[in-house]
Amino acid sequence: MAVEEIARDSMEYDVVIVGAGPSGLAAAIRLKQAAAEAGTEISVAVLEKGSEVGAHILSGAVIDPIALNELIPDWKAQGAPIETEVTDDIFLMLGPAGSLRVPNFLMPPLMNNHGNYIVSLGEVCRWLAAQAEALGVEIYPGFAAAEVLYDENGAVKGVQTGDMGVGRDGKPKDGVFTPGIDILAKYTLIGEGVRGSLAKRIQAKFDLCNGREPQKFGIGIKELWQVAPEKHKKGTVQHSFGWPLDDNTGGGSFLYHFGDNLVAVGFVIHLNYKNPYLSPFDEFQRFKQHPTVRPILEGGKRLAYGARAITEGGLQSVPKLAFPGGALIGCSAGFVNVPRIKGSHNAMKTGMMAADAVIAAIGAGRQRDELTSYEEAYKQSHVYKDLNRVRNVKPLWTRFGLFMGIGLGGLDMWVTTLMGGFSFFGTLKHKKTDAASTELAAKHKPIAYPKPDGVISFDKLSSVYLSNTNHEEDQPVHLTLKDPSIPIRVNLPDYAEPATRYCPAGVYEVLTDEQGANPRFQINAQNCVHCKTCDIKDPSQNINWVTPEGGGGPNYPNM
Ligand SMILES: Cc1cc2nc3c(=O)[nH]c(=O)nc-3n(C[C@H](O)[C@H](O)[C@H](O)COP(=O)(O)OP(=O)(O)OC[C@H]3O[C@@H](n4cnc5c(N)ncnc54)[C@H](O)[C@@H]3O)c2cc1C
Ligand code: SF4
Repeated sequence: MAVEEIARDSMEYDVVIVGAGPSGLAAAIRLKQAAAEAGTEISVAVLEKGSEVGAHILSGAVIDPIALNELIPDWKAQGAPIETEVTDDIFLMLGPAGSLRVPNFLMPPLMNNHGNYIVSLGEVCRWLAAQAEALGVEIYPGFAAAEVLYDENGAVKGVQTGDMGVGRDGKPKDGVFTPGIDILAKYTLIGEGVRGSLAKRIQAKFDLCNGREPQKFGIGIKELWQVAPEKHKKGTVQHSFGWPLDDNTGGGSFLYHFGDNLVAVGFVIHLNYKNPYLSPFDEFQRFKQHPTVRPILEGGKRLAYGARAITEGGLQSVPKLAFPGGALIGCSAGFVNVPRIKGSHNAMKTGMMAADAVIAAIGAGRQRDELTSYEEAYKQSHVYKDLNRVRNVKPLWTRFGLFMGIGLGGLDMWVTTLMGGFSFFGTLKHKKTDAASTELAAKHKPIAYPKPDGVISFDKLSSVYLSNTNHEEDQPVHLTLKDPSIPIRVNLPDYAEPATRYCPAGVYEVLTDEQGANPRFQINAQNCVHCKTCDIKDPSQNINWVTPEGGGGPNYPNM
């Protein structure tokens, strides 16, 4: 019997939430809190594709506790794993051999990290999940939401979890096949994070991006190191721009000292880069060799590796948030404040605002309609204010390049801060998608990256090993190609097939025969760390990332 014809069980809840990230968990907690305040009951299920909560969470992370203070005011007393307060803020401009510190008084006040905390966001999510469960939320890790379900009026009525035990040929495997379940709800909240696979479909189905600027993205690659105690400066937050990137390539680094001699070091490269020969992974490995970074890591141990895309479009790119039957929350809509590299506070707050809208709707006897009050609350919220003040920063970086763009972006942030959101630039557009920004290989030269030394810099495969990534091998490839001929027929001659470089996990390879002829495209899907970069950056927009079997993917302990 074909998988599509199989009868499925269904379960009903008041609310189903896709994704146990900061947005989904904050929404779940707020729903239960609000129901308790109103003296009513509400049933809430959260689906998470990672093997456990936090397994797929990767962030910096310096968090602004503004939303958490509102959600769980006594989070300290409740034992939240949020302990390292920021004590020093360093912003560097890097050259190949040295660095220049930008004086803190020149930095716009909103860039100040005073009162923020350095955390592992994965650990924070595990703690939030425990708080949610204590309130009666049902959390199902290892269950990917694979399909959106619609009712007879076209409204979203829930999601279907992915089938388990389907072979690579798409047929159920004997003895192990377990069909996915229909999870039905009055409202469905999509908290999948950046480039959600269901969010993408829902945005298209309900035309939610109409009239908005295209969403923009970066790829963030991160390692967690344990460094020698004498090199650890607990509470220090260091950001840099410049080397190893050239003026036409946007991005920068972060380096956060926290916990027990831990340093989170990472690099974000804006995915509107033009040169298809660029390899974000190798730029990051090169960055760690800089004289301001290498000495910190020397003598230390690399504990973990991972990568994840980050939304960068900001205010102009936020889609319509509500659709019939549910809403987008967190980075599924894209609320990251890019110059601050912070999105978790806005993810939580949007989850909470959506929850309030759901509670009011269900209390009024409504279901599966549009949560317009969530959209209105967003426009009045500190999330909107946060994004409004930095709305021109990303477009200025894109237009004027790294150095001038950063200067102008800084000035604009001063103006918007001092003048209540006013900007001399009005609201600038992003124009192109990141995929469309990739230029033909003929316009660029290949980049010769230094070989990893195995001490500070490493290769992709030993890095992926540290992400504990695991997928059942005998399952359909979850990196689906709309046209399987495009990688070799179009992307290879035109763009030197950039997937082999932008993927931070070595999933894509172009193999040839012994004579170096007859190229073929190979997808090593089991290495995928679910960063979503291929879905975003493929110049032909031919790769569609869909959920693999639940529980597959990275197993980040504390990213
Ligand atoms: C490198 C990097 C550095 C960053 N640094 C910072 C920082 O310092 N401070 C800060 O505040 N923010 C930072 N951010 C941004 C921040 O991490 C995000 O804004 C935040 O994690 C968004 O929360 P979310 O709940 O929307 O999504 P996520 O945190 O991405 O969580 C989504 C969850 O949904 C799950 N999921 C997705 N699809 C499905 C599905 N179909 N079925 C089931 N489960 C699914 C995922 O596995 C994941 O667990 C950074 C991001 C990156 C990439
Ligand atoms: S295959 Fe795509 S989603 Fe997976 S790690 Fe590579 S770029 Fe990221």
